[in-house]
Amino acid sequence: MEKLIYMDNAATTPVREEVMKNIMPYFTTKYGNPSSVYRLGQVSKKAVEKAREQVASALGADTSEIYFTAGGSESDNWALRGVTAALKEKGNHIITTKIEHHAILHTSQYLEENGFEVTYLPVDKYGKVSVDELEKVIRPTTILISIMMANNEIGTIEPIAQIGEIAHKHGITFHTDAVQAVGHVPIDVNKMNIDILSLSGHKLGAPKGLGAIYIRKGTKIKQLIFGGAQERKRRAGTENVPAIVGLGKAIELANEEMEQEVKRLTILRDKLINGIIQAVPNARLNGHPTDRLPGNCNISFDFVEGESVLMLLDMNGICASSGSACTSGSLDPSHVLLALGLKHEEAHGSVRFTLGFETTEEDVDYVLEKLPPIIERLRKMSPLYEDYINAKK
Ligand SMILES: *Cc1c(COP(=O)(O)O)cnc(C)c1O
Repeated sequence: MEKLIYMDNAATTPVREEVMKNIMPYFTTKYGNPSSVYRLGQVSKKAVEKAREQVASALGADTSEIYFTAGGSESDNWALRGVTAALKEKGNHIITTKIEHHAILHTSQYLEENGFEVTYLPVDKYGKVSVDELEKVIRPTTILISIMMANNEIGTIEPIAQIGEIAHKHGITFHTDAVQAVGHVPIDVNKMNIDILSLSGHKLGAPKGLGAIYIRKGTKIKQLIFGGAQERKRRAGTENVPAIVGLGKAIELANEEMEQEVKRLTILRDKLINGIIQAVPNARLNGHPTDRLPGNCNISFDFVEGESVLMLLDMNGICASSGSACTSGSLDPSHVLLALGLKHEEAHGSVRFTLGFETTEEDVDYVLEKLPPIIERLRKMSPLYEDYINAKK
């Protein structure tokens, strides 16, 4: 196969080999339905409960507080729609941010169409939410605060523990979309004052189409998916046993390796960021310089289109992204980059590289070798760049 440098781990990750080994028997020989009473079914049930323990342990939660879902999007929908449905007599106001994933933003819009009021908090130029600002917009009718733990585009990590503290001081339920954070940075739902947390398998080395939600004991929340009695009658549907087994193993491995992997990726990330900034003039880092995911590098290049950069990178076997996978394909610039205060053309000229467990230093060196000439070549075709160079003379 031709050389492939995968630097889009925020879009999805490969399933780890050890994870695959654990999954396979649940497709072929251990295929029983966990609800069946015979032993074949009970083998599957045991596997699901083991995975639940693995997920709970990674978050500092109790196993009774973990439910499996069909991914991050379902967990986000459940959190917002479930809490608002349960507390609609108490109030109709929710608080979130301008930089959430569409799973939160589009659900919020749906809630607005159904009588709820939503405050979308702004962020500073690094993508950080202000805790003071949050406290100012709380109303007596506020029933839910939903703020992501780490942003999928720019990697900025939000002050979740402080946000949770404020939510609890005011008796408000606190949800965090931690899809980009789980398995990548340390999390403790108790220390961080989190009531509900969303996570997804395919962002941490487990299969796509499987996620989980943590719901603190006693949290008022309605059900989203109705049907059978699975997941202690709170989430219907026959369990995706192989993927659940995969998530359990992947999250366990990620937590075991976390300390070392955070160090390793931070070094590689900073080598990539600094290397690009040094080699390419008129390039700027997006997101927080230090409070950011260990694997995230997001750079704006003046005078080029991110999409063109991606095409030329792809011809060199490099997979990257310009914004989030959901927004590429549309011409709208990323809502996250606009919220940082970037101009439309700056947002269009941004490229995201996200490193993962498979990324090596050679991969980073290869990108640092290939990227600068690509930007140079594209700029030579840009009339705006020509004007800029002439003006400088
Ligand atoms: C990927 C992602 C989601 C959606 O998760 P899926 O499992 O793909 O549905 C939600 N939020 C964030 C921050 C994400 O990165």
